[in-house]
Amino acid sequence: DRDNQLEKDITKEQEATGDFTLTDDKFENLNISEKSKKALKELNFIKMTEIQSKSIQPLLEGKDLLGKAKTGSGKTLAFLVPAIERLYNQKFTPKKGVGAIVITPTRELALQIYGILSELTKYHTITTGLVMGGANRKTEQQKLIKGVNLIVGTPGRLLDHLHNTKGFVFDNLQMLIVDETDRILEIGFEEEIKQIIRLLPKERQTMLFSATQTQKVEDIIKLSLNPNPVNVGVEDNR
Ligand code: ADP
Ligand code: MG
Repeated sequence: DRDNQLEKDITKEQEATGDFTLTDDKFENLNISEKSKKALKELNFIKMTEIQSKSIQPLLEGKDLLGKAKTGSGKTLAFLVPAIERLYNQKFTPKKGVGAIVITPTRELALQIYGILSELTKYHTITTGLVMGGANRKTEQQKLIKGVNLIVGTPGRLLDHLHNTKGFVFDNLQMLIVDETDRILEIGFEEEIKQIIRLLPKERQTMLFSATQTQKVEDIIKLSLNPNPVNVGVEDNR
């Protein structure tokens, strides 16, 4: 029928612009809130990419995850959907402070992820924030003190706030997400990442994504992940 045809057209168009093939698994069949489903639908996210279809379920179950996938595979939704859901289920309010942190290498990526995050949380009440080098530090501080539940940040500025922003509550942290770990290390943020991991609560869920696994990435894996994470690998599709 017409809906089916429309969906096929959308799928084709999305596959043509992205670097992925879409699976037959749909977001609407996940065990997630209607608030999230509604937002995903409005953004025209219907079928999941491979990394999403393999990662979201175990992440919703609270498992740690090591994801090997290159740029363009759809990692953003793979980690944001479960993160939002967890904070929603745990009824995070500003007073509880930060519940999930996404660390990404560059300001450009941070802005991109934050954009999607804002759209995905449209019907949720959880608060979101962006911390990154070059942005106004004072403004960020004021927001963090008021209580931001889900933060997207670059390593240097995030570490700065962990050290210096009095009233930034991070002892309720549930999830740490390290995006593009190899690039974070290539850029030279090894020391910052290590310090961040040391400062954050140990009892938490961690997911780490990297296109490649160098020795330095291995070190961060050992430092941050629980011993037997779910391994998800996505090969090049084309
Ligand atoms: P990565 O972080 O792995 O580089 P992104 O999460 O940025 O990939 O996604 C790459 C592109 O694919 C984005 O433009 C995004 O909107 C699109 N995309 C991601 N997941 C889906 C999906 N399930 N359906 C359609 N498009 C998607
Ligand atoms: Mg990405």
